[in-house]
Order: sequence, then structure tokens, then C-alpha cells
Amino acid sequence: MFNKVLIANRGEIAVRIASTLQQMGVTSVAVYSDADRSAPHVLSADEAYPLEGNSAAESYLRGEKIIEIARRYGVDAIHPGYGFLSENASFAQACRDAGIIFIGPSPEGIRALGDKVQAKKAMADAGVPVVPGWSGGDSDGPDRLAKEAKKIGYPVLLKAAAGGGGKGMRVVAAEKELPAALETCRREAAAAFGNSRVFVEKYIAHPRHVEFQIFGDSQGNVVHLFERECSIQRRHQKIVEETPSPALTPQLRGRMGDAAVKAAKAIGYANAGTVEFLVDEAGQFYFLEVNTRLQVEHPVTEMTLGLDLVALQLRIAAGEPLPFSQEALRPQGHAIECRIYAEDSARGFLPSTGVIRAYHPPCGPFIRVDSGVAESTEVSVYYDAMLAKLIVWGRTRDEALRRMSWALRRFVVLGVTTNIEFLQKIITHQEFAAGRTQTDFLVVHDIKAASDGPIPNEVYMAAAAASECQNGRKQKGTGDGRANSVYDDPWQRASAWRGV
Ligand code: ADP
Ligand code: ADP
Ligand code: MG
Repeated sequence: MFNKVLIANRGEIAVRIASTLQQMGVTSVAVYSDADRSAPHVLSADEAYPLEGNSAAESYLRGEKIIEIARRYGVDAIHPGYGFLSENASFAQACRDAGIIFIGPSPEGIRALGDKVQAKKAMADAGVPVVPGWSGGDSDGPDRLAKEAKKIGYPVLLKAAAGGGGKGMRVVAAEKELPAALETCRREAAAAFGNSRVFVEKYIAHPRHVEFQIFGDSQGNVVHLFERECSIQRRHQKIVEETPSPALTPQLRGRMGDAAVKAAKAIGYANAGTVEFLVDEAGQFYFLEVNTRLQVEHPVTEMTLGLDLVALQLRIAAGEPLPFSQEALRPQGHAIECRIYAEDSARGFLPSTGVIRAYHPPCGPFIRVDSGVAESTEVSVYYDAMLAKLIVWGRTRDEALRRMSWALRRFVVLGVTTNIEFLQKIITHQEFAAGRTQTDFLVVHDIKAASDGPIPNEVYMAAAAASECQNGRKQKGTGDGRANSVYDDPWQRASAWRGV
């Protein structure tokens, strides 16, 4: 196993990776921008080194600088988390060239699947159904694209080949809107992803988003770790995720799982990946894309399988084979995740910035909180506005839903506007409870954030004062990311609080 691993990321995922490293006896190294000097991810790591600058381009995207730090301080491997450099094949290659292990797939694996157009082709070649579309080159010109769009039939979706995080996508309702939409889409793709390549897909009506976690090892074994349903989205980005999917029959699950594994095997994929599909109203599934990294919503899989996926990533990166066969994997119960964002759901999900004045996540049996912030953390404009993830487990979906609702009610964040109330509306909606979710759920059911003004601070403070978690946290010193360790044990917290 590695001695020292550098985490090339920030926020909740960097804190979460550090806790697994520490549990495995591996020294964790954080890197940080100026704005993140005293961020929880810095405090939770064993060592931390500055990157300088604030924007992602100046800091967390500076692959060369990160590799230089890794070399100087004797780092064996780099974990890229998600976003930033995680799907950057050149960075994975640069790590390899520097003799440092990149904890993820090979540069070849990222190249083969990271680009949406190439991935669709690879999947289609492996016999996996893909969303109907045209993925020819832009060099054939807008006329060709218009012709293909017409063949596919409107509405169509324009997509950036290098897109991610729900960005770089545009629905086109009719032919006459195509030229303008194409131009905007190209411009946005170039600015956001440094690659202006755009392709066109059939816009599937009211689909569900169902994805499969896959894992491959360097011995050529590939398994899937079952599905996650991520249909609740705003702006094409997930905010609520769960497993198992209420939509899958055992037969459909089997077919989709087989398709995901087959495709990964065909290209010799190693380490963690996620194969995303859309499932239409008729129950037909279509490949969407592969994320060649750890996924934001991986904790729901960890909860139902009792696995630590980061630990598994490390073992595989170190050359160990997968420690289980497909047949040995038996998910238990139901897990749900809610992404807690600093944003104003009532005002177009506008990101909210400011200093966090009070931060009291809920705790209790089968409740896990992965936080990237603490009291006094400044939520800036520079990075993604996700503050934390709230994950719960229940024996049944119904039990998990009730637990989630309870936990959301007790999640206190003061200083920035959050989507907590909005999430509560979703979780308690009768259509959600019935499992009738689709990617346009929020629009179809017109889910709106409360407009009845903010809850008085006194109410929050009273709630916070009653929280046992707060006491545990105070004892340990604020900002200690370890208070949110992966398998957060309320009993351990209680003893920390009592000082034993
Ligand atoms: P997931 O697919 O893991 O559920 P998201 O799609 O929300 O999660 O993306 C995770 C994070 O990575 C977000 O912060 C998003 O902005 C970022 N991200 C994902 N893909 C890309 C990409 N191709 N380029 C830049 N950032 C990306
Ligand atoms: P990203 O890289 O940003 O995650 P994806 O291709 O995975 O992009 O798509 C993100 C979301 O956009 C999907 O989960 C779905 O809600 C919507 N979407 C993508 N492609 C289609 C499509 N062809 N038809 C309908 N919705 C789509
Ligand atoms: Mg996606």
C-alpha cells in the first residue's frame, strides 16, 4: 500500500478521501488555494501545501504544480476526486511520467471514455444501446448537423463532447432555432471545457437517469456495484440520488448491469467508473456517458454494500485484484443522498455566497454527512456551491425517506441561503414517495422553494443548542474534518463529547 497520497481536490470530497487514507494508515496530503487556506479539507489532512491563486485555473487545475509538490514531498500516488483534474488524460499521463500513481483509470481509459462522442461509439461497438444521435465531426459543418438533427427528429439536444456537471447542453425545440443554439453551445463549450466540439442527440421525453457503478482491476476483472437513480435534477445536475432505483425490475437491472460491464471489459477499464443511462417511459435504456472517476453520489452505493469505494480505488491502483466476484455482491436496504448547496432555489438556483455563521449537521443512526465546510468557512464565487452531502440508509425506501426528512429538518446552516427546504419539499412529495421520478420532476410538479421569508435565527439557534453533534464538534475543535469521518459513528461522537 502507498505511504503518502496527495488529494488534488477541495471541499467535501477531499475531506472524505483524507478520512479513508487515515483509516488505512496512509499519510494524506492536501493542496489549497489562497481562498481555502483554512478550509476543512486543509485541516483534515496530515500535511498541506499551497497552490496560490483563487480561481480553479490558478490553483486546483494546475497539474504541473501539483505534481511538483508531490515529487518534492515524497508522494506515491494522487487521488483527483471528482471535477478538476479527475477526467484529464494528460494529467494522468503526466503523473505516470513522473513516476506517481494516478488513482483512477489509465490515461488511455480516460481518453477512450472521457469524450462523450468517442464513448458512445465504443459502447455502440460493444453492442450497448446508445441515445440516438449523430456524433460526426463539426468539420462537416452546420448544414450537415442540421440535416442529421432533422433526421433524428425535434426536439434534439446539443451537447458539448467534453461537457460535464450539467453544463454545455442545449435543448432545441425546432429547426429554426438550431443555428443560433449551435453557435451559443460551441462558444460556451470552448469557454467552459476548452473544446468547442458539439454533437446532437435525440431529446428523450421524461426519462429517468439510472447509472451503474463499475470497478475494474488491472487483472482484467470488471464488476458492477449496482445502480443509482439520479433523476431528481435541476439544470441537468443531480441533487437527490438513491439506490436501488424504484424503476428497475430484476431483469432490467441484470441487462443494464451486464451492458455496463461488457462495455468496460471491451476497453480493459480499470478502477472506478460510472456508466450513465437514460431509461425512457417504455423501459428502454440508452447509454449516455461514462464518468471515469469517483462520482459525487458514491456514498449511497457504499451504504447498501458496506464498502469504502475510496479504499477500493486505492487497492486497485496499488495493483491488487478486486476482492470480490459479481455474485458475492448483495446490496442491503435503501440509501438516499441529498446534495446540500449554497443556492437560492427560489431565484433560479442562484449560488449564494458568504461566511457560514453556524453549521450543525444532523446525526443519528444510519445518517452520514460528508461536509466540505464548517463554522466560519467562507463560501466564495470561485468553486462549486455544494457544501455537503446528507446520506441516510433504511431497511426499506420508506424508512430511508422518513429518516431523510427527519435529518433535513435538523440540518442547520446559517449565513448563506441553502436548498435544504427545497430538498425537504422533494423528499416529502407524494410522487417522489411513490417512486415516480423523472429528470423533469421539478418542472412537471412545479416544485418551488418556500417564499415565506427566512426562518428567524432564534429558531435555528434553539435547534442547534439541542443538537448533540454540536457538543461533540465543540469538544474536538471546530473545522476538524475528522468529525465527519466516512462511517460516522454516533457512539464514537458521543464519547468524544464526553471526553472519554
Ligand atoms: P456526478 O456526475 O459525479 O454526479 P456532477 O456531474 O455534478 O457529478 O459533477 C461533479 C463535479 O465535477 C461538479 O463540480 C462539476 O462541475 C464537475 N465536473 C464534472 N464534469 C466536468 C468536466 N468535464 N469539466 C469540468 N468540471 C466537471
Ligand atoms: P453531464 O456530463 O453534464 O453529466 P450527461 O450527458 O450525463 O451530461 O447528461 C446530464 C443530464 O442531462 C442527464 O441526466 C439528463 O437529465 C439530461 N440529458 C442528457 N442527455 C439527454 C437526452 N438525450 N435526452 C434527455 N435528457 C438528456
Ligand atoms: Mg452525466
